[in-house]
Amino acid sequence: MRFSVLALGAIVAPAVIVAILGWVSLRQWERSAELLRREQARDMATMAAEKVEMTLRHVEDGFVERLQATLAARGVEPAALDRVLAGEPLVRGLRLLDSRGAILYPRAASDADRVVARRLAAAAVAGRGAPGRRTIVLDGERWIVVTVSTRAADTLLAAFAYDADVLRRDVLAASLAPLESATIFVVVDEQGRPVWAPASLDGAERLLSVAFRDALPNWQLAVYQPAGNAPREAVRRQVTIFMAAFVVLCAVIVAGIAVTWRLMRRETEMARLKSDFVANVSHDLKTPLSVIRMFGETLEMGRVSDEPRRQEYYHVITREAERLSRLIDNVLDFSRIESGRRRYDIVPTAVEPLVRETLDAFAYPLAQQAFKVEVTIAPDLPEVPMDPEAVGQALANLVDNAVKYSAEDRVLTVQAHVDGDDLVLVVADHGIGIPRAEQVRIFDKFYRAGRSETQGRRGSGVGLALVRHVAEAHGGSVSVVSAPGEGSRFILRLPLAERGAHGDA
Ligand code: ADP
Repeated sequence: MRFSVLALGAIVAPAVIVAILGWVSLRQWERSAELLRREQARDMATMAAEKVEMTLRHVEDGFVERLQATLAARGVEPAALDRVLAGEPLVRGLRLLDSRGAILYPRAASDADRVVARRLAAAAVAGRGAPGRRTIVLDGERWIVVTVSTRAADTLLAAFAYDADVLRRDVLAASLAPLESATIFVVVDEQGRPVWAPASLDGAERLLSVAFRDALPNWQLAVYQPAGNAPREAVRRQVTIFMAAFVVLCAVIVAGIAVTWRLMRRETEMARLKSDFVANVSHDLKTPLSVIRMFGETLEMGRVSDEPRRQEYYHVITREAERLSRLIDNVLDFSRIESGRRRYDIVPTAVEPLVRETLDAFAYPLAQQAFKVEVTIAPDLPEVPMDPEAVGQALANLVDNAVKYSAEDRVLTVQAHVDGDDLVLVVADHGIGIPRAEQVRIFDKFYRAGRSETQGRRGSGVGLALVRHVAEAHGGSVSVVSAPGEGSRFILRLPLAERGAHGDA
């Protein structure tokens, strides 16, 4: 328990520190990502505005050049000027004015046109000294006014406007749409109304805007951040992944600790069982030895005069010697199994003689403790492939247990019959029984059910482990049906046809 708390502390504390550091650095990362994104957006927007500026300037310069060439060649000739105007779709409403604002082209001009022309000329003159190009806004309309000269070297003013549709389509869309960027560029006019936008702005957030220079004064190029694309959200996602990974990590750590703790408990339990085993075996070896010695010495000293008593002493010595060799066989076999050296010699074996021989070895204790023995062996049992010595030993272990774990009601039942493809050997008693919870574990090595100790029955805890190994080596199985106080019924199944993985296991 203390280990688990320590391990938990040693692992969870650094994990928490890592989590906090991770959180802080994610926050910093979020801030610098935001800053970087702004910088990049500003650079992109400046470049894009410059591109629009250059495109417009290029188209405009071409137009003015053609206008100038036509004027130089032909003077103010309406047909030629019409052609120049038709050749440039971006330009509309061309007017040629003299310095006082009188309209020289087009010929047909309304009064309103004349007023506008005068105001344009006045504005252009007022701005003299500036470069030969001005953008003048009159009543919400943008006019570009440039100075041109005729063949006769008269200086005239050419005023024209941009066609809004062509401006949108051929200049803004052509310059801005191909820009690869995670942001959206929107052109807004002096009142902040969008003039051109490549996509829907639903949910988009305005990051910043840059102004156009001379070509579109007072207009701006605004940069929008599409919804869900902000660095903040990317960082949020990162944080979620980080947290999920952290939770998984913690779960793995806790699971690891639980598994280690269980393993440790199992190891401790195994160590305890092993030391019990040594103590139990030593005790089991000592008891028959001291009996043999005592009876041997009594006989040797010639103290027993009457023959029946002497015979009984001989029996006791033989029985104890048998017990001793059974115990030693068990321990030796067990160590062979543990080291993987146990081999089985499988030969066709008659079942009845094997059962009888095994029971004969117990004749004395059975008779002495007044056991009622019921043996039922089915007639015509076939010979079964098995290692007779190993199966005999397994059977002896079961019988030994039945004798050992019986109380007042002393009944031993041994049965042999065929069930399906199996030979079934049953050893049953009316003894103390085994609680359900322990029925799986009694076949584990060294395991002894709690009550065996308290009821003073000695044993090593390897008997049933051996029985199971023998059964499995023959391709069979062993199982138990039992209830406390009602006795136990051990069922050993061996296949009639050889199919088990025998040899060492
Ligand atoms: P042991 O040397 O302790 O008898 P086993 O491996 O033969 O070792 O048996 C394991 C445990 O199973 C025993 O300690 C006992 O608790 C229980 N057990 C085995 N056979 C019987 C039985 N016939 N009746 C009641 N309990 C039994």
